[in-house]
Amino acid sequence: MKNDIGEVLFSEAEIKNSVSVLAQKLAVDYKHKNLTIIGVLNGSLVFLSDLIRQIPFSVKIDTIKASTYVGASTSPNAETEIIHNTNLNVKDEHVLIVDDILDTGRTLSKIVRMVTKHSPISIKVCVLLDKMARRERGIEPDYCCFEIEDKFVVGYGLDFDNRYRNLPYVAVLRDDIMIP
Ligand code: 5GP
Ligand code: MG
Repeated sequence: MKNDIGEVLFSEAEIKNSVSVLAQKLAVDYKHKNLTIIGVLNGSLVFLSDLIRQIPFSVKIDTIKASTYVGASTSPNAETEIIHNTNLNVKDEHVLIVDDILDTGRTLSKIVRMVTKHSPISIKVCVLLDKMARRERGIEPDYCCFEIEDKFVVGYGLDFDNRYRNLPYVAVLRDDIMIP
């Protein structure tokens, strides 16, 4: 697996540090508030699990499953599919949507629209990575660990063809791995 990796953008230690700083910010901003964190699967699973374990008060956790790419592809589908929608009960809750990366913004703008219909008190977006250059929708992260250039990255939950999610760092894949 490691042979497939090009440049490492964020090391395990850098990610750990940035996730801690972010969790401290959330702990201040959501103190004494009812918080429901909704993770967007599969990409957010590593980030989500590290982040929630650093929040020092009781929070509700839920997940939504979204699918943007099909198989071994690095370009998004025309339409993001929300495959699984849980029984959202967020009427008296502040909601924080957690995802791996904000890229074009299609996925998160669709999810924000969907969750907003369930009348939460507030709704904010938290991502590990922000790939600003590719944005197509008017959505920005409220919380973000790192900004990245327009490169396809893997690791720390991010996949290529469902592989590499278990790398503890974020890296660019070697070009020849992504050629079909
Ligand atoms: P968006 O809808 O913002 O274009 O895309 C969001 C989804 O596309 C992310 O949740 C993620 O699953 C996927 N994605 C976007 N950029 C990358 C990338 O550089 N690497 C990987 N592995 N997935 C990405
Ligand atoms: Mg995703």
